[in-house]
Amino acid sequence: MISVVNRYSQRGPFPKEHLNLIEELFEFNAKDYGFYGEKIVTRLTSTVPERDIEKIPYTGHYLYKGDSKRLYNTLRRDVGETIVLTSGIRGMVKQTHLFMAKALQSEGNLSRASRSLAPPGHSYHAIGDFDVGKVGYGKRNFTRDFAQTDEYKRLQDLGYVDIRYTSDNRFGVRYEPWHVKVV
Ligand SMILES: [Zn+2]
Repeated sequence: MISVVNRYSQRGPFPKEHLNLIEELFEFNAKDYGFYGEKIVTRLTSTVPERDIEKIPYTGHYLYKGDSKRLYNTLRRDVGETIVLTSGIRGMVKQTHLFMAKALQSEGNLSRASRSLAPPGHSYHAIGDFDVGKVGYGKRNFTRDFAQTDEYKRLQDLGYVDIRYTSDNRFGVRYEPWHVKVV
């Protein structure tokens, strides 16, 4: 992140307080604001090796070669092409960025933000999980409405649904029927 930002003159290097904020967000114990999910990535500087990943055509997202990609392909073969990848691998930079955006939306309430997005380092998207949705369903793919679609019902009938965070989970995470557990 630091090396990318340094390449953009309008943005310039991160001021010290921004760097501290990124570090604090990562080091802070998420349990203190009510997120009880596991910490998956333990180094802020960890990166996703390019040779291990593959861009999935027409989605703008990446998956790990191996288990993730295999599961995605089987799932599409069985459910049909109306099911599509809506979020794949999220490295540290992406998860941090998404979490900060969510925190802004929640007016700095990290507890509320972490209910719908795992804090940096705590997302299984970093190691292989991914999200799927119905083609053309837009943002509703990330709502409970997805569980009403034929695509979701097919997923469920075929036994692909192995929910990471169930509706009654105690981790402080919302129910996400669109999230596919790989790891
Ligand atoms: Zn997900």
